[in-house]
Amino acid sequence: MPKHITEGDLALLAFAREIQQRAYVPYSNFRVGAAIYAGGEIFQGVNVENAAYGSTICAERSAALAAVTAGHTDFDAVAVIGDSDAPCVPCGACRQFLAEFNPSMRVIMSGKTDAVDVMRLDELLPEAFVRGYLDQDNGDDEE
Ligand SMILES: [Zn+2]
Repeated sequence: MPKHITEGDLALLAFAREIQQRAYVPYSNFRVGAAIYAGGEIFQGVNVENAAYGSTICAERSAALAAVTAGHTDFDAVAVIGDSDAPCVPCGACRQFLAEFNPSMRVIMSGKTDAVDVMRLDELLPEAFVRGYLDQDNGDDEE
């Protein structure tokens, strides 16, 4: 179901679009840019491919790594833009990775056209495996 797209969504998407051209994609030539809003700051990432294909990392996880490295583990939103005709959705691995840092964050998606989709992460990944499952038998055992 389409959601209202805010000015903040479009601003975050602009950061994703800005960084998209830095993607390192010698194999697929499919460029993706991502931007995460966390703690009042913006963190950008691009997809980075590798000759050992399995070592490739997506733009969303690149941006998440930058945010966590800067000390932020509660994300408000992620914007993703790819070289697709339709708005580019995060892959399954990225949905799971992002859910760690807020299962209900906003996900703003776009592609080569002006079309923009906005969903909540828990719509894209219902019933995510999150830390609560690990706490089931651990009582109040915190790290
Ligand atoms: Zn991904």
